[in-house]
Parts: sequence; C-alpha cells; structure tokens
Amino acid sequence: MTAQQETKAVKAALREAGIAAAVDHGKGTAALWLHINIGGGQQFGEHDKDAAGFCTPYRCRRCAPMLAIQAESLQIAQQVTGRHGEYQGRINVLMQGPIDQPTRTVQLYKGVRQ
Ligand SMILES: [Zn+2]
Repeated sequence: MTAQQETKAVKAALREAGIAAAVDHGKGTAALWLHINIGGGQQFGEHDKDAAGFCTPYRCRRCAPMLAIQAESLQIAQQVTGRHGEYQGRINVLMQGPIDQPTRTVQLYKGVRQ
C-alpha cells in the first residue's frame, strides 16, 4: 500500500465510523509515520478540574469521550493498514485544533460540554 492509498483508506474507514479526522504521513525521516488528527484540542470546551485546576483526561467528561475516539481511531487505522509493532505501527493519533465537522466527534464533544 502506498502512502497515498493508506491515507485514503484510513480516511474512508474513519469517516464510515463517523469520526472526523485529518490523515496524512510524516515528512522526511518521519515519512513512515501515519498521523491522524481527530481535533478536540485541550484548549476547547469545559473541563472537569480538580482543586488545583487541572483536568484528569480519563475522568473528565470533556476529555474521556475523546480518548475513546482516539483509541478507536487507532484500532481502525491498524485494521485498515495492517500496521503493527513498534509505536503502534507508527501511527500517531493527535487531538489538536478545533472540531468543526458535523460528525460523531462533534456530537460527543457537544454532549459533554453541557
Ligand atoms: Zn478535560
């Protein structure tokens, strides 16, 4: 599978699962890496914070669903590409930037923000 085919296949599989994501490969020495960005950066939305003002993602109503989508995205990408081994098959699932697409990610995000 070429990088281009991989990008296309992973994008389609994520879309089918209702996950909005940007998919591409690294550049230069990172060319083997597959990058998936599902949005939902930490700076967005309201977080459940502890007394010190910090969010513990797996316990936060804003972050926990995003972590679940992140894990699911990785699984889907591994299935589609057959990638495995070191660094989860060199797949990096990022949560950066705003969520602006009408998909499950947005629905979950809005659901936990209220
Ligand atoms: Zn949080």
